[in-house]
Amino acid sequence: MSIKWDGHTHTEYCPHGTISDMEKLIQKAIKKGFTHYSVTEHAPLPEEFKKICSGPRYPIDTGGMLQNDFEHYLNKVQKLKKKYSSDIKIYTGVELDYLVGFENWTRDFLDEYGAYLDDNILSVHFIEGKGGLRAIDYTSADFDEGLLRYYGSFQNVQSEYLRVIRESLTVDLGIFKPRRIGHISLVRKFLQAFPCEIKTFSNSDHLKYEDIFGEMEKQKLMLDFNMAGIFKVDCRETYPPISILKEHSPKIELIYGSDSHDLQDIGRGYSIYDNYWKYFS
Ligand code: ZN
Ligand code: FE
Repeated sequence: MSIKWDGHTHTEYCPHGTISDMEKLIQKAIKKGFTHYSVTEHAPLPEEFKKICSGPRYPIDTGGMLQNDFEHYLNKVQKLKKKYSSDIKIYTGVELDYLVGFENWTRDFLDEYGAYLDDNILSVHFIEGKGGLRAIDYTSADFDEGLLRYYGSFQNVQSEYLRVIRESLTVDLGIFKPRRIGHISLVRKFLQAFPCEIKTFSNSDHLKYEDIFGEMEKQKLMLDFNMAGIFKVDCRETYPPISILKEHSPKIELIYGSDSHDLQDIGRGYSIYDNYWKYFS
């Protein structure tokens, strides 16, 4: 039997968006023929970070599950893992933020809980912008105000995002550091909202991708091949875009990620992932 794995999914513990119960999501994944399923809710964010983070409160206050919910979350995944063990292999995980300046907090978190987690994603959702760290994926208006104007052009924001992604690959987060890197072009979520900007990749961005893929290959890190962007009206491409994969043909493991928050998201874009293997590998 071949493996069909969804490596990036959310749950009712995510404080943003319309969220379905993880058991229902898992049942749907089983129906859709998935054999492997990683539950990767946003890990709690450091309180100190929430205080200093700039911009609208919503993405900051809802960017991670509540610390008080975390053990319930682990227990629930554990329970479902057993209950459905003959149907699907469930991994307990988190989507963890790489937050510049909060490396120690993040390492402590992993030291404390890493033994209970078996498949994690490291993502960048916040970079330096107007007033300090800013969410990159909240709304196009917020992206414009906090990042585009701050860096002067879309390409500059993109280039800074890739720099932070590259940095996240080598940051010391201890022995439980995530083995998969999340949606490495999330900065393009609102690209269609800025028709006057140049959205192609500059030569230096290509060099950054080359360097990122090289380092990931060296460390045998997996890449989240994430389908969420395809379904966003302002994005309409995968993270990372197929063009980037074609151009660089990275020698790393690409793991399909639906980034499901809702029942209808389960399995979305899987044919794109499938076709990628048929035509480009
Ligand atoms: Zn979420
Ligand atoms: Fe994410």
